[in-house]
Amino acid sequence: MNNLNELIKGFEIKNVLQCFETSGYFRFIAEADKEFGDVIPTIFLKFPPGKSNYLINENILMLRIFDRMVTFFPNRNVVITNTKDREEAVEVLEEIRGIINEAYQDCLKYGKPNGRRVEAVKKISWKDLYECLPQINCGKCGLQLCSSFALGVMQGEKKLADCEPLSDSKYYVNLKGIKNKLGPFLLQTLGWE
Ligand code: SF4
Repeated sequence: MNNLNELIKGFEIKNVLQCFETSGYFRFIAEADKEFGDVIPTIFLKFPPGKSNYLINENILMLRIFDRMVTFFPNRNVVITNTKDREEAVEVLEEIRGIINEAYQDCLKYGKPNGRRVEAVKKISWKDLYECLPQINCGKCGLQLCSSFALGVMQGEKKLADCEPLSDSKYYVNLKGIKNKLGPFLLQTLGWE
């Protein structure tokens, strides 16, 4: 990553608390060297909706990633749960630094996401995706039902591109509907290159 385009250079661990998810593990509270609140909506759009909970008004994002809950606060802080020790916390924080800086680069390239788009994505459920799928239960994606596939995509366990029929011109309208519903960021996040 080009250093000129980095928003944050690192975190300082400010507090360590008992984890309420796993006995004997810890929650780490860390502060970034710069504010990153402006990029939180972009981070939200870069993860499958099933992995996230975004409080729009508070601009607080909770992501289930790296086998733990990671919460991004607009006041420079992140909290990571389910962490064995400080060494593991430093490794995870480095990954989080990468996520924030990548979102920052996206903001520089595409601009900040439109608020209405963010609200629309927050409301999207697996049923919305299912409505746009071919609904022929052909099994080509490795699942027997299109509804299971829609759930898997929203959880980040399946890629949209795994649905072969979507590339068929016969289902052009379905693909168009998905593109309209998801928008370019989420479309890419959910595995449509
Ligand atoms: S490949 Fe597509 S159409 Fe076939 S079952 Fe999977 S989601 Fe449904």
